[in-house]
Amino acid sequence: MSIPLIVTPEHEANLPSGQTVIYRPFLVKEEKLMLTIKENQNPEEIVRVMKRVVGNCVITDDFDVEKISYNDLEYLFIMMRARSVGEMAEFPIKCEKCGYEGTTEIDITKIGLSKELPKEDTVMLTSTVGVKVKPVAVEGMAMLMKSAEDDPISVLHYVIDSAFNDQQVWKFSEMTKKERDEFIENLSLPLVQKIMEKVEEFPRCCIKDQVMCPSCGEMIDVYVEGLENFFT
Ligand SMILES: [Zn+2]
Repeated sequence: MSIPLIVTPEHEANLPSGQTVIYRPFLVKEEKLMLTIKENQNPEEIVRVMKRVVGNCVITDDFDVEKISYNDLEYLFIMMRARSVGEMAEFPIKCEKCGYEGTTEIDITKIGLSKELPKEDTVMLTSTVGVKVKPVAVEGMAMLMKSAEDDPISVLHYVIDSAFNDQQVWKFSEMTKKERDEFIENLSLPLVQKIMEKVEEFPRCCIKDQVMCPSCGEMIDVYVEGLENFFT
């Protein structure tokens, strides 16, 4: 008889995109994977490990980690962390009133979106040609974290859902890289700016909470955005 494997509990998550998935907590094999990101602060590596960990732990059949938004990935990762390591994590706080600086424990399952979704997700480039923008995809976030400053144009590959005119729609996911490059390289810089402004209207995952200053009793707003906070 072979040794019995331990059955882990399953949980349900409602992702920022509206999708519902079933997941299990991290196991020792995922903890091992995550140790590699503690030592390695390379954004691409962090996203790659997050994808593997989240992909491993989601049980829902038709879930494809390659196709989800970065918000969904981040949300799932935090909820898995809460169910595995614990719901409380330590964050730095600073009191504006008395200058107190210290840390506090925050319940990370309070994770949510920073704002409402934009009502309009298209950007008109001419009177007849426009693009439909989507929240940053997983691959795009690695790119944004790495090269937002030196190569902002490449991010467009991951935030444009489709281009359209008054007769036709071209899905970016069905175009070749060469076709997308050609479309993107023919945009003027003000148009790129206009597209990026729309992208910034989309919410990001964040944790919002309030704690009392241990020194003067004033309420301090805590706002955490970005995963770096969980690995350093
Ligand atoms: Zn204070």
